[in-house]
Amino acid sequence: MNDELSRYRRQMLLPGFGEAGQRRLQASTALVLGCGALGCMIAELLARAGVGHLRIIDRDVIDLTNLQRQVLFDEQDVTDAIPKAEAARRRISRINSDVTVTAIVDDLGHRNIERYAAGVDILVDGLDNFEGRYLANDFAVRYGTPFICGGAVGTVGTAFAILPHTADGGARWETIPGGSRATPCLRCLFEEAPPPGTTPTCETAGVMAPAVTTIASFEVAEALKVLTGNFDRVCPTLLNIDLWTNQIAQLEVRDAYDRGDCPCCKHGRFDYLAGTYGSGAATLCGRDAVQLTHRQNAATLDLAGIAVRLRGHGEVVTSPYMLRAQINDNGKPYVLSIFPDGRAIVHGTSEANVARGVFAKYIGI
Ligand SMILES: [Zn+2]
Repeated sequence: MNDELSRYRRQMLLPGFGEAGQRRLQASTALVLGCGALGCMIAELLARAGVGHLRIIDRDVIDLTNLQRQVLFDEQDVTDAIPKAEAARRRISRINSDVTVTAIVDDLGHRNIERYAAGVDILVDGLDNFEGRYLANDFAVRYGTPFICGGAVGTVGTAFAILPHTADGGARWETIPGGSRATPCLRCLFEEAPPPGTTPTCETAGVMAPAVTTIASFEVAEALKVLTGNFDRVCPTLLNIDLWTNQIAQLEVRDAYDRGDCPCCKHGRFDYLAGTYGSGAATLCGRDAVQLTHRQNAATLDLAGIAVRLRGHGEVVTSPYMLRAQINDNGKPYVLSIFPDGRAIVHGTSEANVARGVFAKYIGI
């Protein structure tokens, strides 16, 4: 065995790996979307497995509440206020110096995803918001890139491996013996991202680290199958786990592509990639505030429901016209004004990235 591969010998013993599989990993590039709890675990496992090139994108810096579950970071990173993507790069370079890591400190959006994801072999989801997930899904279907999506909040996690259908049926997973392994995409399953404020977030519902690491492990297992070309082993069902109530379900979704009328897969319409769905941000000049807008077909927001979830985070006032919440985010005070049409103003910052981060953490997008 070649010396440079000796550290991977326990992995190369696995079915479907061998030296050829390991070399395929070495030649692969994975884009890890988000570097919170999920992204940390995903990036670490991919690096230890010997995936040659990792791009890690995250808009946030590390704070003390992250350390309960974000395994690549430590107290010194908090003290030094290091962006998550950069701290992950530094840590991974000590774990496996063979891996080339590119840290991208930016807010993933429709204006930059094509640049950051160009040429990658796989997208792996470590995001904390649905909007980014739907954007990645659009990219995956548009360019025929595998996308492993997953999310965890509270004690519950969900994950699903997407091998997109391509227009010409020419992708490697569509031409393997035994029939195509192409899967439905996220929009085949749920046509739109849930409206802001309708799903729990880690800030409002908490998060159990093992739920996150379970989902991250599933995502990485699927990624390793894809990157080694073992498409016939990719899990065709949607995993749903609740580690508190001990429920584990594999949901059968294979017919969602055939039965549905997916805007992406069937009509080539990429609303999130085009920026026609999703959020926009505009700094409100001179007001230390950013206005966020959310465009999708969704009806009006449930302000009363959002108010209930924000209890315990600060004073919340609601009227039929708006909700106003005072949020203390790790010592930084913000005031969120949210309107039923999905528009929001985040007072306390003039930076769009920060405003979007606060909104995603406390309201959910
Ligand atoms: Zn689809």
